[in-house]
This record gives sequence, structure tokens and C-alpha cells, in this order.
Amino acid sequence: MAAPKSSAKRKEWNTDHMAEAIKMVREKKMGYLKAAKHFDVPRTTLFRLCQQNELPPEEAAATTLGRKTVLDSSDDDEMILFDTDSEPEGLEKRTAPDTEDAECMFCHMLFSNDTQGETWIKCLMCGLWAHNDCAGAEFETWICDFCK
Ligand SMILES: [Zn+2]
Ligand SMILES: [Zn+2]
Repeated sequence: MAAPKSSAKRKEWNTDHMAEAIKMVREKKMGYLKAAKHFDVPRTTLFRLCQQNELPPEEAAATTLGRKTVLDSSDDDEMILFDTDSEPEGLEKRTAPDTEDAECMFCHMLFSNDTQGETWIKCLMCGLWAHNDCAGAEFETWICDFCK
């Protein structure tokens, strides 16, 4: 008997809930983290559906479920977020983006709008920024959910 791998387990989620979550994020009423928690859907899936589909929320939510038989290999089809222009300059650690255009990958708040002095963290892999709170990162070296 192989030991069950908890990280590989798929959480069941409700298409209607996902549609509602997508709506909230698109209408900017909630960030990804909040919407995912509120509607009990996986944050990474929510993120992908919001990013990749121009479809109405109900259809977007149904796409991943409905295509299992057609696109079985789509699990390897990770989103490519690498930005070849943003090579790390040295390895100094920062707690804030050095560009005001940076936005939190989860809640999409711009760094320039951040007046509360939140801690920001940068994904080691893709170089995108996020609020420490949104990312739930505990260490200074952090790899986002989408690069893991
Ligand atoms: Zn955020
Ligand atoms: Zn990343």
C-alpha cells in the first residue's frame, strides 16, 4: 500500500460556487484569497479560470470539469509566468517592490495604492509580487502557488 499523498489530493468544489467566486473577483468585490475562502473553492483554480477565460463566470467555472476526457494532459499545462526581462538584481532581499506598478498577484492591489505599509513578498520563480498576507508566506524565500 502506498502512503497517500495529501498534496496530490483534489478537493471537490462546486461549480456554482466557483462561478460566484469568479464573479466576485472580476467585479473586484473580493480578492482571490477571500473569494476562494468564502466560496470554498481552490485558489489556484479560481486564479486560472479568472485569468484564462473570457467566458461568463458560469461557463468558465464549467470548463475544467467538462473537459476531463478531452484534455487529460492539461495538468502539465502550467501557466507560464516567467518574465525573462526581470532577472534578479543581486540577491538582496526586499520587503517592498521597487516599482510602483507591481501588483499583488492575489488581490490585484497596486503597490502604489498600498498606504498601509504592508509587507510584500516576491515569488522566487516568476518574480511576481504579492502581499505577505495574501500569499501566506512564512519565509523570505517564497514560491507562489502557481510555480510550485
Ligand atoms: Zn494582496
Ligand atoms: Zn511564482
